[in-house]
Amino acid sequence: MIDLHTHSHFSDGTLSPTELVEQAESLFMKAIAITDHDTTSGLIEGAAAAKEKNVIFIPGIELSVEHKPGELHILGLGLTNWGNAPILQKINTNRKARNTKIIELMNLQGLNITYDDLKQLTKGTIGRPHFASWMVSNGHVKNINEAFSQYLTRGKPFYLPRETISPEEAIDFIHSTGAYAIIAHPLNIPVNFNTLLEKLDYWLSLGIDGLEVIHSGTKRNMTKRLLNYSQKKGCIITGGSDFHGKNKPNIKLGRTEKLGKITDDFFPKELIK
Ligand code: AMP
Ligand code: FE
Ligand code: FE
Ligand code: ZN
Repeated sequence: MIDLHTHSHFSDGTLSPTELVEQAESLFMKAIAITDHDTTSGLIEGAAAAKEKNVIFIPGIELSVEHKPGELHILGLGLTNWGNAPILQKINTNRKARNTKIIELMNLQGLNITYDDLKQLTKGTIGRPHFASWMVSNGHVKNINEAFSQYLTRGKPFYLPRETISPEEAIDFIHSTGAYAIIAHPLNIPVNFNTLLEKLDYWLSLGIDGLEVIHSGTKRNMTKRLLNYSQKKGCIITGGSDFHGKNKPNIKLGRTEKLGKITDDFFPKELIK
């Protein structure tokens, strides 16, 4: 069993990198990647935690890039040199500006929220999931889904766009760290399957190395079709749950709801150092 897509408390997960690695070991997993949104802050801790353990640690990241409709996320897997990357600083400056504006919007509507409230909810990247959690804890909505569907998705009162980076910038950055660039949860992009394949062709032509074929959201028949496409293209094939700890309690480490355990078949040989 493996899991190449997880979030720690350095973005919108609830476990520390050490706890993630410990949980992976206790489940006898072969490998785990930490792929926090827009940050590498948890990777040194994750690597250190895996040192004395019988589990392979893959340093990763998940970047959001410009795309409509929906969102396009790109995973970097197997970072070997990172550090204070200017592009991550730029993304986080943009995030701060947007967070400040969302706080203003909420306060105008009488929701008494401060930046410090959000900082309590993560040790790293702050984004819409933290606004959603705050709204749940403070009794404004019943759950995270309601926070997004009524307030935080595009077109809703507390949604604001943020400046994102282009797919090319994301791919170049990921390659500069020595990692592979993988399209995260391709089946979440809200277009029909043929359009999706055209988009994937294009992203592969930009330098994308592979596709996350197995993911919590995917159904068996669509996964099969995506797997066929990936095999035809000869690209890297990965699997991850998108584990977020208690923030997405239905998602279990190393598993997807519809397909069960994520097998070692989805741990690409390219990641073995
Ligand atoms: P941000 O990067 O700040 O715009 O927040 C985007 C993140 O919010 C995504 O990576 C998802 O993890 C999360 N998200 C987006 N839509 C939903 C939703 N409907 N329910 C729960 N989480 C969501
Ligand atoms: Fe997330
Ligand atoms: Fe994602
Ligand atoms: Zn994710």
